[in-house]
Amino acid sequence: MMTDKIQDPENLNTQELDAIYAISRVVTRASELDASLDEIIGIARTVFIFDNVVLYVNQNEESIEPSYARAIGRGRNSESDLAWGEPIAKDVLKEGKIVVRQEITGDFTKDRMKDRYFLGLPLIAGDQNVGALVFVRYGGPQFTPEHTHLAEYIAGHIAQLYEHGNLVTQLSRLEAERQLERLQDDFVATVSHELITPLGFIKGYATTLLRDDTNWDENTRREFLTIIDEETDRLKELIENLLDSSRLQSGTLRMEFQPIRLDTMIRDLSLRAKSFDENLNIEVNLQISPLKIRADPTRLAQVFDNLLSNAVKYAPGSTVNVTLGTQDDHAHIEFSDQGPGIPAEDLPNIFTRFYRVPNQNRSVRGTGLGLFICRRIIHAHEGEITAESKFGEGTTFHIYLPIMNHKSGEDS
Ligand code: ADP
Repeated sequence: MMTDKIQDPENLNTQELDAIYAISRVVTRASELDASLDEIIGIARTVFIFDNVVLYVNQNEESIEPSYARAIGRGRNSESDLAWGEPIAKDVLKEGKIVVRQEITGDFTKDRMKDRYFLGLPLIAGDQNVGALVFVRYGGPQFTPEHTHLAEYIAGHIAQLYEHGNLVTQLSRLEAERQLERLQDDFVATVSHELITPLGFIKGYATTLLRDDTNWDENTRREFLTIIDEETDRLKELIENLLDSSRLQSGTLRMEFQPIRLDTMIRDLSLRAKSFDENLNIEVNLQISPLKIRADPTRLAQVFDNLLSNAVKYAPGSTVNVTLGTQDDHAHIEFSDQGPGIPAEDLPNIFTRFYRVPNQNRSVRGTGLGLFICRRIIHAHEGEITAESKFGEGTTFHIYLPIMNHKSGEDS
């Protein structure tokens, strides 16, 4: 442990001890490396005199890289901010111990900047020398053993910060890799299942129709062909969703924006949905008309269709209320059903790729891609989509899209 290497604190005065404790608190709650270093250097300055500080980290056996630098006192505008400490840092790493050095680069009686005092300390994390911390004072005072002692505490804590930071980075990388593997497994499982099901129907009914030993009457033939037709549509939709989803993921889905009347679009959408499914109970309430936005009409219709078909799938028999209003300079569209709702613990995940609420009616088919695609499309319109649900009472999706005349200065 690094703390073993930190010296006996008895020689520190109260102010120095306070500063070291403050620094150790920064280390324990460290989140962002540079911000934590800024804080530590700020605290260190209250008890330890220096003009510049540079932190070098080992890149490999041979090279070191400056990873953090602050010029605080004299020489704040000095060009050589990073370069000046490098020879010291190299010596620290070569010798594996503290280096104290004075360097006179000219007539220091006229220019104090020419009289430089360096203090270089190794940064040891675990058993490894991870880099060096180099302080400079222009024109003195020189570094005494007491100063060095105090600087060792600072270096010790900074090394811990690095160790902590590296661990966090490694852990989050590992976690991300695992999550990716899990997602890929889920993806293959979900997609295979979803592709196999309609394919199974298509293959089964086509083979049946082709049998030589049976003569199917016209009604049965039509029934089987209708199933094949519907399942082919489903396969096509599924593959289109998969393609959209990967294009959205890679940022290659093209959008073609144009001015559209949102109120007209929603009215047309409901008429079209009713013509497909006469049992669909859809109530449209246009509180604002006309209302113009910039949108890709095909992609936006895809979002609306998806929300409607989800309501039909997951809230069968319920009326779907579609409301168009405004909120600040945004159009606000609500899709609301009185279905079974979504449990609170699942609600934050429903826009995630492949997420489906577990333990839902298993006969309802889907891939968990729909809402992911909806959110990406709405984001591409600089809008937002959210869901609100009371388990057992129903679900409401809210979509917010910038109104054209507010955002772009064009007339509505
Ligand atoms: P899919 O319908 O293909 O499963 P979606 O991304 O469209 O995927 O939806 C994700 C999940 O959100 C669904 O599996 C379902 O569990 C839940 N869900 C979506 N809409 C509703 C709704 N209106 N009522 C209840 N649950 C819903």
